[in-house]
Amino acid sequence: MKIGFIGLGNMGAPMAANLANAGHDVTGFDTAAPMPQGVTAADSAEAAAKGAEVVITMLPNGQILRSVADSIIPAMQDGAVLCDCSTVDVDSAKAVAQQARAAGLGAVDAPVSGGIGGAQNGTLTFMVGGDEADFAKVQPLLAIMGQKTVHCGESGAGQSAKICNNMILGVTMIATCEAFALADKLGLDRQKMFDVVSTSSGSSWSMNTYCPAPGVGPTSPADNDYKPGFAAELMLKDLNLSQQAAESADADTPMGQLAHTLYRRFVEEEDGKGRDFSAMLPRFTSKGR
Ligand code: NAD
Repeated sequence: MKIGFIGLGNMGAPMAANLANAGHDVTGFDTAAPMPQGVTAADSAEAAAKGAEVVITMLPNGQILRSVADSIIPAMQDGAVLCDCSTVDVDSAKAVAQQARAAGLGAVDAPVSGGIGGAQNGTLTFMVGGDEADFAKVQPLLAIMGQKTVHCGESGAGQSAKICNNMILGVTMIATCEAFALADKLGLDRQKMFDVVSTSSGSSWSMNTYCPAPGVGPTSPADNDYKPGFAAELMLKDLNLSQQAAESADADTPMGQLAHTLYRRFVEEEDGKGRDFSAMLPRFTSKGR
């Protein structure tokens, strides 16, 4: 298949490389990042999009997605599908899909979970919003870049699933970190804490798979001095999106709100920027009530 790929950063580069390795004809464009192996360089986003059957975008935010969409939609061939894999606000996802459809194109929002490791290994999870026909066109490509794809509903449903998932992740990571900090003060050994909680009702992905305590549980960024992994500022971005969505949908999300406040403080005032989001643990242990 002829594919345009726009945004070849930490996630986009390995995703595009996996498509090229699988034998697809991939043309890429990025304003800064180098082309991954096997991907042909275009000198503009429009040039990357022209003639492609599917154009994939993997960009930092909704504002950039909207401006890239403005320039590539008129260049795309009739019936081609715009597949946005970035994490963006639900409103931008819906607006871009509408704009693409009005121009005779297909569109899906297909954000991912699984991080840079998942992008490199082709083991991402895709959550997709869009109609059945467009989903069917991109599905074989998503199956190369990932191991699981869920068609969540109409346009915007993929982004909705993504931000709900990451709101749970932010909240459970904070709860796990503050529980470790409490356990420390109660004199409980961290390994014993892990052994109990990871097999009890307090278990979660944050505890069992991504344990924030160094030397405990499976290897995680905590064992690498909290180098990301998933940076605290990216968690803050996603909590911003979930609070923004909660506000526009009139949903009551007090835990999401508090997680947002704590990550904002961590990133902006407490040297959390550039550290993994599980570095909330040393943040809690360094503080008393
Ligand atoms: P990144 O900053 O490494 O990559 C974004 C790329 O987009 C950069 O290379 C940048 O130069 C390029 N870019 C910016 N403006 C552009 C434009 N106008 N035209 C073309 N290229 C442009 O970010 P990333 O880590 O690859 O994340 C990409 C998206 O995936 C984000 O929305 C992020 O929230 C989401 N995501 C990231 C992770 C992760 O672990 N990194 C996990 C899941 C989802």
